[in-house]
This record gives sequence, structure tokens and C-alpha cells, in this order.
Amino acid sequence: KKIIIAIDGHSSCGKSTMAKALAKELGYVYIDSGAMYRVVTLVALRNGWIENKVPSKEKILEGLKDIRITFKWDEEKGMNTTFLNGENVEDEIRQLEVSENVSPISTIAEVREEMVHQQRENGRNKGIVMDGRDIGTVVFPDAELKIFMTASPEIRAQRRYLELTEKGQEVNFEEILANVEGRDKIDSTRAVSPLKKADDAVVLDNSHLSRKEQLEWTINKVKE
Ligand code: C5P
Repeated sequence: KKIIIAIDGHSSCGKSTMAKALAKELGYVYIDSGAMYRVVTLVALRNGWIENKVPSKEKILEGLKDIRITFKWDEEKGMNTTFLNGENVEDEIRQLEVSENVSPISTIAEVREEMVHQQRENGRNKGIVMDGRDIGTVVFPDAELKIFMTASPEIRAQRRYLELTEKGQEVNFEEILANVEGRDKIDSTRAVSPLKKADDAVVLDNSHLSRKEQLEWTINKVKE
């Protein structure tokens, strides 16, 4: 039987790495819900709809209807590529500028409504692994398996630092740590769909686990 696996948790704790590996192992579809909020943020930045980290709700809601987000699985890289109206924006949505502006945008109720709608459409009648902040609590409250992932902020910032440096981006550790902690704060205190563990989710603290150990732990949960 194909099931829905919901993976939620803090920023940069390796949710997508685990979700991708799991989807590959099970032959499921992987959907990165955070990429969708990042695309909306990118459009807002490009059009000047954000001033000093404050998004113009009116302009964003007006523009939302022209945003079509699609994913394509890149077999070679073993990852998803994100498209905005057909344009490959995968690299651009991972930049720090987007990370620094995405959380305020994801507090807008109407933006969430539209994203949740699209996420449910994507997951219809398929075996899927979806990661985010509200997948087990809001998007798929009936998911057969819910995992809540976390790790200490320092470890998460360190991992993100290495990832961005490897891609050749010039980044500063303190700035990344501040971003990780700042996003956690906004995500878990916002009025709509705050980040929290679903009552029936199992917790995975991966501060001291390798990727392989995490995957094995999760596969065991799927088998249960
Ligand atoms: O997962 P990722 O870090 O790429 O997500 C970027 C941001 O999008 C998060 O910090 C959060 O503010 C928002 N998000 C959300 N709900 C989701 C996924 C992401 O609010 N389901």
C-alpha cells in the first residue's frame, strides 16, 4: 500500500535530504513544500514587493495567481528541480536573500491557503514524501507516518554553511545561525499553522546521526 509520509521540523535540519533518500528508497514522489514558499518569495523580491523584510500583502496576493510552481525530478542529480512558470529557479530560491525573506511571507494566511491547496493536489493518490512545517498538522493530518525532525541550531547552521560554501556562495556563519534561529522563531510563533509537532508524530533528533542512520531509522518506522 502506498502511503503519505509527512516530515516536519525546524529549518535546515536535513528534512529534504532525508525525504529525498526515503522517496528514492520507496519509489515514492518527493515534494518540497518549502520550495513553494521560496518561489513566492523570489517573485516578491524580483518585483520589489518586499521592503526591509516587510512584504506588501496586497501586491503579493495580487501576484499569486500568476505563479505556477512545478517540480521535475532530476535523475542524474537525484534531486528535484523547481520551476516558476517554466523557468528553472532551483539555485536562486536557495540563496540567503530568499531564506531571509521567506518566513514573513509564509505568515500570510492567503498565501498558505493557496500553497496547501497545491500541495494536496500534488499528493493525491500517490505514494509521497512531503517535507515542511505544517504537513502533518494541516496539509495531511491523516498521513500514515509523521516524523518531526530537529537538531541543535549550531549544528543546523554548520550544515547549511558547508552546503552553501560548497556551492561557491560567500556566506558568514553568524549570519546563517541568525537566519536559522530567526526562521524557527517566526515559524513556530505565527498565528496561522505554526510549526509544531503533530500529536501522533515521532521525533527524530539527528544532531548526532549520520544520513545512513537516519534513513535506517525512518525505514524501520515505515515498516512498523
Ligand atoms: O523548508 P525550507 O527551509 O526551504 O522552507 C522555507 C520557509 O518556508 C520556512 O522557513 C517557513 O517559513 C516556510 N514554510 C512553511 N510551511 C511549509 C514549508 C515551509 O511555512 N510547509
